Amino acid sequence: MDMQTRLFREFESKQPLETAHAHAFAYLKAALDRRVYPAASDLALLDHFDEPLPLDGADGNDIVGQLSRDGGPATISSLGGRYFGLVVGGVLPAALGARWLADVWNQNSALYRLSPVTSKLETVCEDWLKSIFGLPQETVAGFVSGSSVAILGGLAAARERIFKSKGWDVNAKGLRGAPPIRIVASRQIHGTVVKAIAVLGLGIETVEWVEVDDQGRVIADRVPPLDESTILILQAGNVNSGSFDPFRQLCPLAEAAGSWVHVDGAFGLWAAASTKLSHLTQGIELAHSWSVDGHKTLNTPLDCGVLLCRDRDALVTALQATGSYIAYSEERDGMLYTPEMSRRARAIELWAALKCLGKRGLAELVDQLHARAVQMAAALEATGFEILNDIAFNQVLVACETDVITNATITHIQDSGECWVGGAKWRDRAVIRLSICPWATTPADVERSARAFVDARDRAKQELVGKQAAI
Ligand SMILES: *Cc1c(COP(=O)(O)O)cnc(C)c1O
Repeated sequence: MDMQTRLFREFESKQPLETAHAHAFAYLKAALDRRVYPAASDLALLDHFDEPLPLDGADGNDIVGQLSRDGGPATISSLGGRYFGLVVGGVLPAALGARWLADVWNQNSALYRLSPVTSKLETVCEDWLKSIFGLPQETVAGFVSGSSVAILGGLAAARERIFKSKGWDVNAKGLRGAPPIRIVASRQIHGTVVKAIAVLGLGIETVEWVEVDDQGRVIADRVPPLDESTILILQAGNVNSGSFDPFRQLCPLAEAAGSWVHVDGAFGLWAAASTKLSHLTQGIELAHSWSVDGHKTLNTPLDCGVLLCRDRDALVTALQATGSYIAYSEERDGMLYTPEMSRRARAIELWAALKCLGKRGLAELVDQLHARAVQMAAALEATGFEILNDIAFNQVLVACETDVITNATITHIQDSGECWVGGAKWRDRAVIRLSICPWATTPADVERSARAFVDARDRAKQELVGKQAAI
């Protein structure tokens, strides 16, 4: 059978899709209770993928079957309620359903003419997001893979605006001989911001770092005098402590000085949706660009990030694209607001997530993540762990008596498969770092995870005693 005939058969029989559907349902059924991190025997199955590129194509059904058999066990269980590493959300069922359908549609979201439906839902999401975050009416949104790209776009717009105000066309002339730009940023800004500064040729060594307090918040008094050549970069949600920079103090100062403010709010910007927590984001409406993820706090599927910018001209100029075959329309052409051209239709799952929660559900989700973090901190403190941060949002920093015990405890927690946490350095101490993002985390998940902490620390201490005895 020739290749095309075979593909038509698969298309008509829908066999690979039905097989995938069956395996997906089996996976979902076990998702809440599976090991959070694969066991060694699960990882060993990955060796089955080591084969030379086959000469003849395989059956679609078999391919999906192999993926499920050899690949499925080596997944991280982020759908359940006990994955607390990095900042990884779960997946809302409606958003996943919308994503499945959108995957079948396979829309390229670059232009209205390539996908009217995506263009429409991008417009709807743009409006909804502006109202959730309280951003100015002129704000535009670009739908990107995540905050990394959203930050890059926001800083590119800032660079464009500042150079333009000095009569410098950076697209045409580049950086050689360009007037100076100042970057003032929190000492604890996220690594992806540092990356964007480097990629944009702004120079990491030129950054004027601002010292932070014991929660990792910029100390307002330490911010140097701002001016119209300055980009001030702040964060809503410190990636370790979850703390928020003092926007209410700093944004008006920046506004008065004519500086551009970018707010990295990858997971924390969503605090704006909760009446209890929205005081944390007050003042952000005076900034110029914002970056936020759907795939963390909001629990959309990966990858779903948003770049928001109130200076449409600067953003569009910074991300300009031309070509005689690109037909811009009178409608929304999404690629104007993103570095990418071809993109999948992320706004579809974002729209579904927001619609399935509604304003009230979103506030409830944010409050719930916060409440679980508070519960976790209390449970761990009660069993002798030290909590090093105020629980501003959904992040908890935990330490044992010594760095050695802390690090060994992390290893044992990870090996247990009960929950998953990573480590970090916080004010020169090794810490266990939890980020509570999944919608599925219940109070029982928190209790079960806290028990895994205690068991892991007991083991770590026993080992240490064993080692000391051996010396
Ligand atoms: C996750 C995160 C980023 C990077 O976002 P991606 O979606 O992974 O690209 C940036 N800043 C903060 C504070 C984050 O938590």
